[in-house]
Amino acid sequence: MHNDTGPFEFRCLICGKAITADVCIDHRICKISQLPEEGHDDRDLLPLGAIEMTSYGHYGTAFFDPCDDGTQVAALICDDCMEERSDRLMYIDKQRRLSPFNKAMGEFKARSEATRST
Ligand SMILES: [Zn+2]
Repeated sequence: MHNDTGPFEFRCLICGKAITADVCIDHRICKISQLPEEGHDDRDLLPLGAIEMTSYGHYGTAFFDPCDDGTQVAALICDDCMEERSDRLMYIDKQRRLSPFNKAMGEFKARSEATRST
């Protein structure tokens, strides 16, 4: 059941756990657990123990496709849910190539251990 009334509480998209975020309001770092009524600048929203996933939408989805107007859909996913489902994640490298996330992280770890042992 959707709850579209009342304040927007930050919650993990997957498990629903409440999430707190650090933000800068009037030049002070504050902790908030719900979106301020007037909204908030996305660039300084720092969810604690969670990650913000965003998408511009694209051809092929019927859920969100504002046709490149620059707006995005965003979701918070807690670190536990990301870790538990990391075998479903993809990694995008600097050349924009997709690969399995866990494979890419394994290669980073192996490279960093090889560098450390030399
Ligand atoms: Zn979660």
